[in-house]
Amino acid sequence: MSDAASLTQSEAAERASLIDVQRYDIDVDMRGLLEGDTLESVSTITFTCREPGAETFLDCVADVRWATLNDRPLDLDGVADGRIPLRDLAADNVVVVSSAQSDTASSSGILRTVDPSDKLVYVWTSFEPDAARRVWACFDQPDLKAPHGFTVFAPDSWLVTSNSAPDSVADDAEGGRRWEFPDTPPLSTYVVVVNAGPFHEIREERDGYSLGLYCRQSLRSNLERDAAHLFELTAQGLAFFGEQFGQPFPQERYDQVFVPNMGGAMENWGCVTWTDSVLHRSTPTHGQREDVANVLLHEMAHMWFGDLVTMRWWDDLWLNEAFASWASTWAEVNATEYTDAEATFLAGLKLEGYRVDMGPATHPIRGEVPDVAQAMANFDAVTYVKGQSTLRQLAAYVGEEAFVEGLRSYFRKHAWSNARLDDLVSAVSEASGRDLSGWTTGWLDESGTDTLALVDGQLVSTGPDGQEPRPHRIDIGSFSARETGLVREATTPVETTGLRTPVPDLPAADLHLVNDGDLTFAAVRTDEASLQTLLERAGDLPDPLSRALGVATAWDMLVKGELAADDLLTCVLDVLASERSPAVVEPFLGLAHRTADQWTPVSHIPRQLSRIADTAAALAEHPDHRAAALRTLAATASEQEHFDLLEEAGARDTDLAWRVLARRSALGSYDAEAVEALEERDPDPDAWVRALGVTAARADQAAKDEVWAQVFDKRSVPAGAPLRELSRCFWRPVQHDLLLPYAESYLDEVVRLAGGGMLAVMSLTRMMWPTVGDAAFLERARRVATEPGQDPTVRTTVLSGADTLERMLRARG
Ligand SMILES: [Zn+2]
Repeated sequence: MSDAASLTQSEAAERASLIDVQRYDIDVDMRGLLEGDTLESVSTITFTCREPGAETFLDCVADVRWATLNDRPLDLDGVADGRIPLRDLAADNVVVVSSAQSDTASSSGILRTVDPSDKLVYVWTSFEPDAARRVWACFDQPDLKAPHGFTVFAPDSWLVTSNSAPDSVADDAEGGRRWEFPDTPPLSTYVVVVNAGPFHEIREERDGYSLGLYCRQSLRSNLERDAAHLFELTAQGLAFFGEQFGQPFPQERYDQVFVPNMGGAMENWGCVTWTDSVLHRSTPTHGQREDVANVLLHEMAHMWFGDLVTMRWWDDLWLNEAFASWASTWAEVNATEYTDAEATFLAGLKLEGYRVDMGPATHPIRGEVPDVAQAMANFDAVTYVKGQSTLRQLAAYVGEEAFVEGLRSYFRKHAWSNARLDDLVSAVSEASGRDLSGWTTGWLDESGTDTLALVDGQLVSTGPDGQEPRPHRIDIGSFSARETGLVREATTPVETTGLRTPVPDLPAADLHLVNDGDLTFAAVRTDEASLQTLLERAGDLPDPLSRALGVATAWDMLVKGELAADDLLTCVLDVLASERSPAVVEPFLGLAHRTADQWTPVSHIPRQLSRIADTAAALAEHPDHRAAALRTLAATASEQEHFDLLEEAGARDTDLAWRVLARRSALGSYDAEAVEALEERDPDPDAWVRALGVTAARADQAAKDEVWAQVFDKRSVPAGAPLRELSRCFWRPVQHDLLLPYAESYLDEVVRLAGGGMLAVMSLTRMMWPTVGDAAFLERARRVATEPGQDPTVRTTVLSGADTLERMLRARG
């Protein structure tokens, strides 16, 4: 991508003021991908120009073979930086470009994968923010929306999925089959898609929709296991959003395609693509099923917010993502079995939002995005997580009913076109009758997290770095301590303004929980007596969300050096001892493990892990929590009785068996024969990555080198969950001295990654960030991050990673 210029906001605005795109007709020839690496396309674009005689350019970051404008051949000498100059435009124009792309192995817009188990070939495309131009010529910016008509040529044995159902599939005279798709509605170039391969397909009719699920053949049984859950969630989501947003999803077909080596999921109109690592290779836990629900509803919410109404430019990308994330949790609570999703969010993802927002790489939610390359840097926890929380706060501030009414009118008014933040704010403002100008400035244009502290009957608000705090609409829960638990006696709603807000109606209580119900995004502190009760009895709070708030408050104190890791761990393990809600058991177990592994003095790690192992072993007695608890046990076990329990369960569960081997390997008992035997027994096509994880856990330089080469030199480890799991096996603070040189190497590697495909760069940079380092490493990391011209994703990941690592090192003492 280094040979392509990044479109600037002013170039995009200028181009949009000059032209309108009537339609795209795109022929895609994938027949060369069965055995080779080249995709060919012919893109025919019909567009008008408001100033005949003017010039503009078309985007194409592929090998241009020939091109014509209004039937005249274009001189290809002028093609540079991924742009084809278009001169002397007429009022009505047709440009045709034939191009070929052979870089189909680096996940830059397109990926061709050979399944290692059966050698079958699969191809997916994913274009956000501007990778469509790598696969065919187009005006690659979000506000030049147009219908797309695809004709796809594919090998005989392949299925093709695109934004809608094919009109026809027929043998082609030149070999393979020809797939004709009907026109899409007017769509931005980044939400169209063409996937192909010998997919396994499952379809079901629900409420008038034709729902499709696809995966590679080697994962067929996994998809079949999960299909009922996926169809149920899809039907629930389509019904809920259609009703709430005031218009049903307007197409009969809704497909979800699970593909290899993709980092996340992508909201292509009517055809969402997902990483197939979510088709878990052993029975998923509650937390994994809920994750699937969350992603499914997030991508679906984009059908309205993003696809139907699209941001004009990438500076409103945050709104796209924040909205989809907010809507997803909201739908989980109101339309699915995951009614405690707010608690799961708080105990998991939201803490990541706080982490990034307290570090030096944070940014206002809304910011300048001068070019598309900068848009990529903002796919972070501030965008998704803080943005989601901010919209929840807005809904609390104006009332949910008015908020949803505002959304309806926004979708009605801007359907199939583009909009800006102001359009949404004015719709919500109108529906609620509240002036939101001060609210938006405070929440969207200031970075960092406010602190709300209850002191002497007043809420004291502190803005980050001495800034003015934002307004907050929160609840304070007041609890009395009884033998049966902490009983909520009153809920006091408060709207804060300025630095001090008196709360005169607060009743006497043993515990005042600030931000009860988790309506806002803020660090909260309560009075001294309440804090003692909270740390000692968080597990006695009456609902998962209040318990999650108690734990999250203690976690914030750990991260800021106000609470020792040992005390945090005591609090969390105490909650877990009586926790019965599957919505929070897994996030709490995860927090406990991270505390022991990363925030504890190295010499205390084994003892702290062993406390977690005891808690996990006890939780494993409960059928609802057994799978999750055993995984934690496998990560923390050191005693024979625990291994006995794990061996027994692992005989039926290959995922667990891999975790046990990795743990044994970390403890110095690497067993090559056992690894080989398990790899043979495990039907997972990616089982070799699990074997690599066992190697990664070893305290051995040759083993670490082997893993490093696979990750960074061969780039062979699938993005997403497999890489995350491998990274956890690799980085172990107990192996500090052995790992320190790899932390240094990480900095060399990320510099080389800069500018590569978005998903690959984000995945490798973020997931391989070291949890091991020293003062010299931190200094060099900050220097590398702030070098002039550094890739924005690398810059922000390294800066906020260094901030967190410094906090960990301080906690480790
Ligand atoms: Zn999204």
